[in-house]
Amino acid sequence: MPDRYAVVGNPVAHSKSPLIHAEFAKQTGEPVEYGRILAPLDGFVATIERFRAEGGKGANVTLPFKEEAFRLANRLSDRARRAEAVNTLRFDPDAVFGDNTDGVGLTSDLVRNLGVVLAGARILLVGAGGAARGVIPSLFDAKPASLTVANRTVARAEELARAFGPPVVARSFDALAGETFSIVVNATSASLAGDSPALPSGIYAPGAVAYDMMYGKGETPFLTVAKAQGAARFADGLGMLVEQAAESFCIWRGVRPDTAPVLALLRSLA
Ligand code: NAP
Repeated sequence: MPDRYAVVGNPVAHSKSPLIHAEFAKQTGEPVEYGRILAPLDGFVATIERFRAEGGKGANVTLPFKEEAFRLANRLSDRARRAEAVNTLRFDPDAVFGDNTDGVGLTSDLVRNLGVVLAGARILLVGAGGAARGVIPSLFDAKPASLTVANRTVARAEELARAFGPPVVARSFDALAGETFSIVVNATSASLAGDSPALPSGIYAPGAVAYDMMYGKGETPFLTVAKAQGAARFADGLGMLVEQAAESFCIWRGVRPDTAPVLALLRSLA
């Protein structure tokens, strides 16, 4: 009997995680079965408890439950504790272990797949929701020269800057005028509504990278605007999705899958 895992979220029907983990299982020979579970908005904990009682070995957690998963876990990785958000649960005999692989997913994609140098970079992180919070520890650990968080609701960015401390600083979108960055990461959900955050022009330094955590068919609205505003290199979040999944797989199985063929497969299906 394969070991059972699932992605739990609301909505969850669109998730590519079952396909990614099926490919990882095939590649590594690990006996893994991975499904998707729609949890009611007021029933995340009950959904996880039921899955565990039925023999589930672990879960990925997506919108909007990452903070609830953080509170549910009774053993945490350091990066999950710092992010106060969990996207990976492993059901151990004596504990529910919570980790956050979004940050390492982003930095692996930037550094390994795209050849971006994070150390010494001036990074702008746009957004202050769960995704932004989840990636700050990994960006922080990569030793950038600065890490600026800008958000439409500036108070949420200020809260993150207070929680993490220097080099994280908060800005409103308007206050970015006159500053330049070598890496701009969009961690807002604006692209979901066909929108792009209202960033001032002139923020892209020569050779700058624009990275949208969103992915989908064709260019995202954020990347279209970034191109018009002078960014030199562009990437969507599909690589991050595959890299964070590989890290989760490794946490569960102790085996690291090769992400390149799985990312190529997803690109061919997009
Ligand atoms: P969230 O907690 O709901 O936060 C949404 C963020 O987007 C907030 O900062 C919000 O600003 C901002 N926002 C929404 N619409 C906007 C607009 N029109 N203009 C400017 N800002 C806007 O969502 P989340 O969990 O952080 O997720 C954010 C995105 O990251 C989602 O699209 C998700 O799919 C993506 N993501 C991708 C991966 C991956 O593996 N590729 C992993 C995690 C997340 P306010 O505070 O002002 O409302």
